[in-house]
Amino acid sequence: MSKSNKICCVVNCNNMYKNTQNIKFYTFPNRKYEKNLKEKWIRAVNRTEVNGSPWNPKVHSVICSAHFVGNERSNDSRSPSYVPSIFPEVYKRKIVDSEQSCSRYQRVLKRHKIKSTSSALENTTDCNLDDMLTDNPCKTVSTCDASTQVAIEPVESVQFSFECSFENQNVRTQVTSPNVCRGFYNILTSTSDKSCGPDSSSINSCLSCDRFHGFNSIKNENSLKDLTGTTYKVFDLLCSMLSQVCNSSTSKNDRLLIFLIKIKHNLTFSAIGVLFNIHRTSVSRIFFQCLEILSILIMDL
Ligand SMILES: [Zn+2]
Repeated sequence: MSKSNKICCVVNCNNMYKNTQNIKFYTFPNRKYEKNLKEKWIRAVNRTEVNGSPWNPKVHSVICSAHFVGNERSNDSRSPSYVPSIFPEVYKRKIVDSEQSCSRYQRVLKRHKIKSTSSALENTTDCNLDDMLTDNPCKTVSTCDASTQVAIEPVESVQFSFECSFENQNVRTQVTSPNVCRGFYNILTSTSDKSCGPDSSSINSCLSCDRFHGFNSIKNENSLKDLTGTTYKVFDLLCSMLSQVCNSSTSKNDRLLIFLIKIKHNLTFSAIGVLFNIHRTSVSRIFFQCLEILSILIMDL
């Protein structure tokens, strides 16, 4: 399979080398000492073969970095990016199904009073172990004080561990709990990780730094004039014309900024792409879209 056609192995993820930017593709850990890690990844990817047997990655199977906290895998076992944890919506439904099939397990756990409480953002919620075992990262991005209190009453001689760590804006918990087999605990244990943190795309905390962040970095009218040759008044007027199309992930302001920078300075599409951290073909698409819309509307003025 050629490199550009490799597609991410995660269900419902269509990321490929050729249709993505800023996404890395990782093969599964395959060294002898990485056996445990490989199993964790496989468990997280949570696929089955068409015939229902457990899925195992092929030599060419890849997983894209979009499933790792911070859009990058980490080799540090304490990092939330050690194991993929960000998955499409469909994964939630899968987990619900597996919850049903494990209802017996839950009952046993409840009997043994394994319970945890967590509080964040003034909400205090009781959540059982099952909640913690899901691999879905929480979607809320916020800055808040959060605390977790866990009360565990492990059955004698059964291996049970709970670990919680945080790094930068990411929180990660890991629970190792006994497997239940025909009503008895056996010595096999299963480990599950849950981590949460902001998606890299939603981190805008760097807006306060000095680098260029498109329209948000323009602090006054002189800067705007330097870049675009327009005043805020003209810029806003043009921007309001663009509002009729907004199917782009780049903001309306940035699209107009790109268009005007190109007109005023005639930088190459790739040079503008470097500034805005987008691909040159996106810059060119944005430019010609704006050109088309504005040329039609301005004629009517
Ligand atoms: Zn993917």
